[in-house]
Parts: sequence; structure tokens; C-alpha cells
Amino acid sequence: MTNNGHGAPPILLTIAGFDPSCGAGTAADLKTFAAHGCYGVAAVTSLTVQNTQGIETVHNTPSAELRAQLDALAKDCDIAAVKIGMLGNRGNAGAVAEFLDAHKFAHVVFDPVMKSSTGAELLDAAGIKFVATELLKRASVITPNVPEAEVLTGLTIKDIADMEAAARKLVEMGARAVIVKGGHMERAVDVLLDGAEIVQLGGERVKTENTHGTGCAFASALAAQLSSGRSLFESATLAKAYVTKAIEKGYPIGKGRVPLDHFYRQRIEPPARGIHEVPQHGLHPAAEPAAH
Ligand code: PLP
Repeated sequence: MTNNGHGAPPILLTIAGFDPSCGAGTAADLKTFAAHGCYGVAAVTSLTVQNTQGIETVHNTPSAELRAQLDALAKDCDIAAVKIGMLGNRGNAGAVAEFLDAHKFAHVVFDPVMKSSTGAELLDAAGIKFVATELLKRASVITPNVPEAEVLTGLTIKDIADMEAAARKLVEMGARAVIVKGGHMERAVDVLLDGAEIVQLGGERVKTENTHGTGCAFASALAAQLSSGRSLFESATLAKAYVTKAIEKGYPIGKGRVPLDHFYRQRIEPPARGIHEVPQHGLHPAAEPAAH
């Protein structure tokens, strides 16, 4: 086996649903990983039928199939961090819990997705119960938004003090660290509780209500930053800054909601292209003129 003289960057695993419009789910996660210089691999929990205008149907992967995808990847690649998003149902949540128990990953970022912003169910009721009682304990950090934190804790969240109370309750329920995302609140402040310390992550609300896949990008950016050895606070600050900028730079690709521009950094500083990639000692084989 040759590595052509190159070592691999951190390999990150996303466990999430597939959104064919690629604004959310595994495709968005893989773009976020790539934008952070990581190599992404993906296990698909659910095949959704959706475009930018919303979700039509959801076809969850049979849980044995999901487990087989996960095992095939884990026995082959050295996974630096795991990001978990949409699970679909209790069966898939259970398969992921067993997988996490079988391998001790350094970083597990769990975004406990329950519904799409257009209202489609992305986790069944038994799955939600399993997440609250079992799966959240197995993550290094969970990243619920306000409605998800309300469902998991049973608390009503109206302001930042309520977000802090919900974060504390989630730690009491077994979470190791929590980031309650305030994107749904008037001020886009996130609350981070790491061990006993609680901090607020300030943020400007970007002037658009119409974005898709922000939670996926945040959790994936967080996993990428953690895999590079940064602290949770620093990783969360950088992930929030990345998502804010990627929302700001987003452009419509269809008639509905707008995905983020996961690669806005590359557009700010365009990478060298074309002739620069051709080895100077001769023509690149792909550029060789066809023999006549
Ligand atoms: N589709 C898939 C596959 C997802 O994983 C998610 C969120 O995690 C969504 C849709 C919903 O994204 P949004 O709430 O931004 O519409």
C-alpha cells in the first residue's frame, strides 16, 4: 500500500441522513469537514426525499444496515472524531449507541435532531426517549437548539437564563458537555456548559430566517476543531464564527430555503487552479495530447 508520500488529514465520521439538495445532513457535513481540511466518511441513517422547499418523505436505513456501514468504516479507518445528526428512529439510535460502546472515540459531537425547520419528523418518539436516557451520555458534547433542549428536559425556554437551566439539567441527565444553540432566540447567543463552567457565546443574528442546515454545519465544524486538539470553548467559538460567515455568504440554489456556503473561505482566497497544478518537469498525463 502506498500513500504517495502524503499522510492523511484527520478522518471524521458523520452519522446522519442524506438530503439530496445537500444543504443539510451527510452531504453538508462532508462539505464542512472538507472546508476544515479534514477527510470525511459517512454512514447514512436515512434517505430523505427533499429539496430546498421541504421534506417529502423519509426512508430510514434498516438498523442492521446502519451498523454494518459503521463497522465497515471503523475497522478500516482511524476515526479522529464522530458527528451524529439525524437518526430517524429508535432502532438506529440503538445501533449508534452500540457502535459508540464498541469503540472509544476521542470526540463525539451529537446534534440531537428531532424535526426539520419545515416541521418534518426526523426522530420518532421512542428514539427521542432513548436519546434522553441513553445516547446523550455517550457523547462528548451535545448541541441541541432551543426546541430540542425543551423536548429533552421538559423545561420551557424563553431567555438565556432558561437556556442555562436547560444546559444544567442536561448535564444532570448524563451529558458530559452541552451547547444550547440560541439561533431561534432574539439574540443568537449560545450557552456552553462544560463540566461545571457555563459561558455564553455571543453572536450576531445574520439577517435571514431562510437558512437550511445550520445545525449540521455547526456540529461538523465543532467536530473538526475538536479533532485538531482545541478546547471545547475555542472549538465552539470557531465553529460559530464559521457558521455565521457561511450563512452570510449563502446563495439560493432552488426555490426554497438557502443552504450555507460551506466553502466561503476558498472563495475569499481562490485556490491555485489549472496550469499551476501541472508538474513543471513535463505535462501532466491528463493534459498529454492524444496520440495521432
Ligand atoms: N435533512 C437531514 C438529512 C438532516 O440531517 C437535517 C438536520 O439535521 C435536516 C434535513 C433539517 O435541516 P433544517 O432543520 O436546517 O431544515
